[in-house]
Amino acid sequence: QAKAAGGNTLRFFNRSMQTRLIERANLEADLHHALARHELALHYQTQVNHQGITTGVEALLRWCHPQRGWVPPSTFIPLAEENGLIIPIGYWVLHSACEQLAKWANQAPYAALTISVNVSSVQFQQPEFVRNLEGLLAQTQAPPGRLVLEVTESLLMRDPTRVRNTMLKLRAQGVRFAIDDFGTGYSSLSYLKRLPLDELKIDQSFIRELLTDKADAAIVDTTILLAVSLGLTVVAEGVEKQEQLDWLKGHGCYRYQGYLFGRPTPIDRLFESY
Ligand code: C2E
Ligand code: MG
Ligand code: MG
Ligand code: MG
Repeated sequence: QAKAAGGNTLRFFNRSMQTRLIERANLEADLHHALARHELALHYQTQVNHQGITTGVEALLRWCHPQRGWVPPSTFIPLAEENGLIIPIGYWVLHSACEQLAKWANQAPYAALTISVNVSSVQFQQPEFVRNLEGLLAQTQAPPGRLVLEVTESLLMRDPTRVRNTMLKLRAQGVRFAIDDFGTGYSSLSYLKRLPLDELKIDQSFIRELLTDKADAAIVDTTILLAVSLGLTVVAEGVEKQEQLDWLKGHGCYRYQGYLFGRPTPIDRLFESY
């Protein structure tokens, strides 16, 4: 009986693996057309300060698949990074964000807003990244100082000298940098003093149980102190509850992003309530 069960389990495992591989290949084939078929969209999530004022938005990519509906970024971005599609997709995201910044530049309440864009390490390490982004900024007339590039700790560790040079060139244009998902990667803290960073985003995994988990609270508290003493803006991600907000405010974190303030939303509905 055990043997029969083992056999079944094995067959089931094989078939599910096979199904997953086929699924993946199908999804990948579909992703090749997603840009041209206008299936990709940007949604924006607000970032808010301690007075409840919106200071900026983060652009978050969405894929509306014609048969499957919304495919989450956690599914298709790793795929796009593996097959290189993240590069054209990433430029499309940057172009859209720059166009939006240029539009806002002449509209009083919006002109002060920043747009944060997640940049994959694959794209960031491209030799032509600086030139291409400068081209987009020039072409769209976007104010570079309103663009924040979100990078991960793993990128900063990969090729520190080259990454630093890329950042310095863009920083010279006014572009700002944020470390995303801070505390989740393998990294040394020494990059914090070597790189031209502006912002540090505390990963939502530390915020989730902030009020009940002493370790999370200690990590968040220390991260805030570290960021503040380095002169970085510290942003808490994944703020869902008023109690989390109160705690963060009480511990010196004055920038927040999370469902408490709003979900990622298409741009035309973002400021509906204003
Ligand atoms: P991220 O950059 O850390 O983005 C924040 C994620 O947290 C988003 O997930 C957002 O929808 C979600 N989130 C925001 N507030 C809350 C909250 O209060 N509670 C919870 N549970 N979640 C919240 P999303 O949109 O699914 O994106 C996942 C990741 O995919 C992003 O994480 C980012 O790493 C990546 N990504 C998204 N758009 C792009 C893009 O244009 N380019 C690249 N390279 N990566 C992207
Ligand atoms: Mg991000
Ligand atoms: Mg990210
Ligand atoms: Mg994050």
